[in-house]
Amino acid sequence: MNKDNILEVRHVHKRFTSKNVTVKAVTDVSFEVKAGQTIGIVGESGCGKTTLGRCIVRAYNASEGEVWYRTAAGEELDFLKADKKKMKLIRKEIQMIFQDPYSSLDPRMTVLDIIEEPLKANFPDMPKAKMDELAKDMAAKVGLNPTYLMRYPHAFSGGQRQRIGIARALVINPRIIVCDEAVSALDVSIQAQVINLLCDLQKEMNLTYLFISHDLSVVEHISDRVGVMYLGRMVEYGDTEQIFSHPRHPYTEALLSAVPVADPNYQVERIPLKGEIPNPANPPSGCYFHERCSYCCEQCCTESPAYIEVEPGHYVACHRANELELRGFDYK
Ligand code: SF4
Repeated sequence: MNKDNILEVRHVHKRFTSKNVTVKAVTDVSFEVKAGQTIGIVGESGCGKTTLGRCIVRAYNASEGEVWYRTAAGEELDFLKADKKKMKLIRKEIQMIFQDPYSSLDPRMTVLDIIEEPLKANFPDMPKAKMDELAKDMAAKVGLNPTYLMRYPHAFSGGQRQRIGIARALVINPRIIVCDEAVSALDVSIQAQVINLLCDLQKEMNLTYLFISHDLSVVEHISDRVGVMYLGRMVEYGDTEQIFSHPRHPYTEALLSAVPVADPNYQVERIPLKGEIPNPANPPSGCYFHERCSYCCEQCCTESPAYIEVEPGHYVACHRANELELRGFDYK
């Protein structure tokens, strides 16, 4: 592993098979994550971003590939091949915040029990008084009133519930958090509060985030690097500034043209995508995007583009990446 990286995802594939039908949910995804960074993963619903996040925390076992992780003790481990003992160690260091703050909390548990659950699972010998103290401290840190912790989740609003989910993920002091659409179920004003909270906690606890979202304006605000996924493949990956100002993949250009801006004077021509996202059980030949791409050429229909580095740290899977002049997101 590169010494600056905390995580290296190498050629990860995830296939689901049911009744002789195989769905390629994630195909050959590779990227690197430096410690303390936020990586945004974007794409339409069904593009495989959540499956990728779940493979990284090993909620799903990837079908192929490697996920190398540098532990707090400096040991390098291939996450996907780690045995039970090593997984126990890694699970303390990598946690997840889920999309739905309603279904991700057990309605029969008090908030205190919910926040303490990871402590009970990972530190079974810890005295209850110590667990209570840590849970209350963490509740206060995420802006929850510790005196309300004996209540049940139904007594809290959506934003407060997501704070409970954040407290549960952070209470064991992890190093990496996979945020799976962590703010999409919230109202816009609450989204801003939760995003600011995540940014503050990142600085305070030196966290690394993998931020999965379909909302590009949120991703631009929070991320250092961005990966764009289409039909299970990573089609573009680079610094947020590179991706937003000079995209090199036509799919990224189309996504950026659809970012809403709350300014009536900002007029931008939207690039409509033709048709629907193809069936991942029967993807198109060549470039998976060719049926919807307005820059498609003959080669695109038959040959899958290689994922290449077009400038330092900027990777693209497009045959025409070096010749196209694509439009970025220029609203500042
Ligand atoms: Fe479009 Fe061809 Fe590039 Fe695919 S490889 S994104 S079809 S130009």
